[in-house]
Amino acid sequence: MRDKWKKLVLKHSAVFEAHELVGDSKWQDIPMELLVRILALVDHRTVLVASGVCTGWRDALSLGILELSFSWCGKSVSMLVQSVAYKFYRLQSCNLRRCTLLNDQAVQAIARHCHDLSSLDLSNGRSSGTRLTDLSLVALANGCKLLQKLDLSGCIGITEAGLVQLAESCRQLKHLNLCGCDNAGSDNALKALAQNCVGLQILNAGWCDRITDEGISAMAIWCPDLRGVDLCGCHLISDVSVIALAEKCHRLRYLGLHCCRNITDLSMYSLVNSRNTTTSTKSYVQCILSDQDGYGLVSLNLSGCTALSGQAVQAVCDSFPALHTCPERHSLNVSGCTNLTSVHCSCVVDRGNRSAIASRLQQQ
Ligand SMILES: [Zn+2]
Repeated sequence: MRDKWKKLVLKHSAVFEAHELVGDSKWQDIPMELLVRILALVDHRTVLVASGVCTGWRDALSLGILELSFSWCGKSVSMLVQSVAYKFYRLQSCNLRRCTLLNDQAVQAIARHCHDLSSLDLSNGRSSGTRLTDLSLVALANGCKLLQKLDLSGCIGITEAGLVQLAESCRQLKHLNLCGCDNAGSDNALKALAQNCVGLQILNAGWCDRITDEGISAMAIWCPDLRGVDLCGCHLISDVSVIALAEKCHRLRYLGLHCCRNITDLSMYSLVNSRNTTTSTKSYVQCILSDQDGYGLVSLNLSGCTALSGQAVQAVCDSFPALHTCPERHSLNVSGCTNLTSVHCSCVVDRGNRSAIASRLQQQ
């Protein structure tokens, strides 16, 4: 182990020259700041190994390591997380993505020790995300009240009750991914989120097919800062939801309505109107002043929305210059809608004009 560290320090000796740690220096004397800087250069498995070298290193890493990923762990992930969570109590970001054998006890260990956690990725494949239950959500609600970003996609073992409890405690949530959590994603859960997490910016409720206009309207009213909403596969959603989002959420940039077959032209014209009417309102001015990213839709997924007409979707495309149907950018997705083949972005029109001019010139 020590040889490995010596090699690492030698490798980066140009950076750490001033510390003169090579040769006969005592390893336990490495300044904390330097140790943490070295460990920023290695993978997270090595960080965990280093935390077991001596108490000095463990204490230094406890203070200095703010981000860890356990995605590389494989079958031992739950045991490992439970055995090391106490060392990393200052953790702010933890990645447990695709840890298919992760269980509630591991999440409980994190929640018990890592109270500064602001970002947690528990996303899982739909076929294997059954191990996490509401016990995990309750633990997070009690221990990680500073959570801002939480990815629960594919966690099909969690329910509405757990999500409501989480919403009531983790009121700083800004990004929440519930894609595929069809037992948890419900109108009641969305209402709890809307009333408690008013700063929510990104919500992915894809394939939570119990969600109706009631839940989305509550989100639109209480969470005016929403910038991204994905309702793919939420087949009960109608124009009511889209109209509410268009009217209340002036910062909306990303909207996913894949396979929302009840959506009609009314939704499209409400998006067009939101662009036009907000230009004269006070809230629009506030949006422009406070948003360096600009405003207006930059991504719209209408694939499978078969009730829409080409005219209405073209009006949306014309209203938001960042929406493109061309393959290069493809930010307006209308695949699977045979009646929308006539919708084109400005690039296609420009290209058409250029080729028409070129052919006219050739004829002359
Ligand atoms: Zn284009």
